[in-house]
Amino acid sequence: MELKRNQRRPLAGMTLAELQNVVAGLEMPKFVAKQIAQWLYVKRVTTFEEMTNISKANRDRLAAEYKVGLSKPTKRTVSQDGTAKYLFDVGDGKSIEAVYIPDEDRHTLCISSQKGCRMNCYFCMTGRQGFHGNLTSNQIINQVLSVPEAALLTNVVFMGMGEPLDNLDEVLKVIEILTEPWGMAWSPKRVTVSTVGKKPELKVLAEKTSVHIAVSVHNAVHDERESLMPLEKIYPIKDVMQMLGQYDFAHQRRLSVEYIMWQWFNDDIKHAEALREILPDEHVRVNLIRYHMIPDVAKLRTSSDDRMTAFRDYLNGRGVMCTIRRSRGEDIAAACGMLAGKVNNAAEKAEKPEKATKPAKAEKPAKAEKPAKTTKAEKPVKATRASKKR
Ligand code: SF4
Repeated sequence: MELKRNQRRPLAGMTLAELQNVVAGLEMPKFVAKQIAQWLYVKRVTTFEEMTNISKANRDRLAAEYKVGLSKPTKRTVSQDGTAKYLFDVGDGKSIEAVYIPDEDRHTLCISSQKGCRMNCYFCMTGRQGFHGNLTSNQIINQVLSVPEAALLTNVVFMGMGEPLDNLDEVLKVIEILTEPWGMAWSPKRVTVSTVGKKPELKVLAEKTSVHIAVSVHNAVHDERESLMPLEKIYPIKDVMQMLGQYDFAHQRRLSVEYIMWQWFNDDIKHAEALREILPDEHVRVNLIRYHMIPDVAKLRTSSDDRMTAFRDYLNGRGVMCTIRRSRGEDIAAACGMLAGKVNNAAEKAEKPEKATKPAKAEKPAKAEKPAKTTKAEKPVKATRASKKR
């Protein structure tokens, strides 16, 4: 019996094993699963008619129960610096965002993994939207396959909306599609997963994949970090970094630390030293990120160039690779901490996130610093972390 269009399951987002189940269920030869994977993930077709090496009869049987399941973004906003933000409809009146960041021969897509986020980091626009559900592997891979620049992409970073490790199963499926020979066959070096430190899931990611890992630290002092990032209470960042120290990040795989800088809150030399102390070894790279002011977070202010430079120099002087990240896409709210999509729907109650406390030490008025210079920040050493939030 032919299913109605909206009842048909999407094939894009399925792993080879899942596609093999599909073709077995339709009594087709096993090799058809690999053919479908090639059409979906390499040739990026959007209809069954285009899958010309599959017989017409089999295509019709597929189309009766499944759909390809790719959909174009509904909106594109382009920054003066070439960064482009895409809005994707994910149903129920919700949208999520992906950000394309061109940088010479590097073309990075920053993708979302959840509708909103339940981690409730104080400084983050996404966190402020609440949590409205996980994205499926279809909705995640669709971002990679359906942006107009899909054929140009060299890197994917899971740094968009949501905590990827809070949606681990779907994220692992997408990593499989990106890196397996039957899928897009990318090197794992082209993929980075960013996390605030969900330790058990991070261990699984570290063991099951070889992708790069970026940990959003932002403050290595326990009490201060906890006031910004409630997950610190459950998984202290010191323990998370210690656990990561068991894995090899000295060769192909990279471990980096993301550190948004707030004046008087986390940009003292004592904070640089606290950060240095939790790094498991000298191979970890530290990316300092300029904070982008978001509404209602008046207590957090952007660090000055001078303080950022002093922080970087302190770490560099002690053998830590540390760079100040060049900011991208701020004018289209695509920069770090600014993605929000359209998950806000007053008519629908979102799952309530754990309540965040206000930062302990964000305010230290008086002592006026010079306003941040408008000169370009130092360009990072091929930083993979693209745009976003953590
Ligand atoms: S910073 Fe990341 S983990 Fe924290 S609320 Fe925002 S999206 Fe979620």
